[in-house]
Amino acid sequence: MRRLAVFLASSTGHDPAHTELAAAVGTELARRGIGLVYGGGRSGLMGTVADSALKAGGEVIGVMPRSMVEREWAHEGVTRLVLCDSMHERKALMAEYADAFVALPGGLGTLEEIFEVWSWRQLGFHAKPVGFLDAGGFWTPLLGALRGLADSGFLPSATLDDLAVAPDLDGLLMALEERLRGGAEPAHGENWR
Ligand code: AMP
Repeated sequence: MRRLAVFLASSTGHDPAHTELAAAVGTELARRGIGLVYGGGRSGLMGTVADSALKAGGEVIGVMPRSMVEREWAHEGVTRLVLCDSMHERKALMAEYADAFVALPGGLGTLEEIFEVWSWRQLGFHAKPVGFLDAGGFWTPLLGALRGLADSGFLPSATLDDLAVAPDLDGLLMALEERLRGGAEPAHGENWR
């Protein structure tokens, strides 16, 4: 894996453990030589993961719509800040740069981003693996709700099983690598736009 897209909160949340987790992820990705692709923000967990990856000498690619940069939300110190015109374009570009996608703790934006790439994988628009870093059981309630969708017959069990979930980054990266190795070709090509 050359680059990993990380979706995570633009705020810090209430528990300092989330900031510690984001910092540890940034450092570890840099240590492993895996580039970080993220939304380009300077605040919250987004800023923390970027800062720690940069501090450890890693590559950090931020992708952000111009309108957000004008609001001074961008991290100015990233290796490469890619500007775009819309949120749609931002997600498409992040998806192009990354080899896999993971969610760290976050809110609506994080969920929207990870669910989009996961549903597109289900549809065969790409073959890049998707995962949740379930540190401290943060995502366990959501994963339970997803199991409920599967039990209702709206979410194929195969789709749920396809999701990489681990309580630590090491386990999550292993699960993603496993899916990359066994990866099927995308049914509809790599055109994200
Ligand atoms: P959330 O999980 O709701 O904090 O969403 C994270 C995502 O929200 C980011 O990828 C951005 O799309 C967006 N976002 C909201 N506020 C900001 C901000 N101040 N700086 C950067 N991105 C933000």
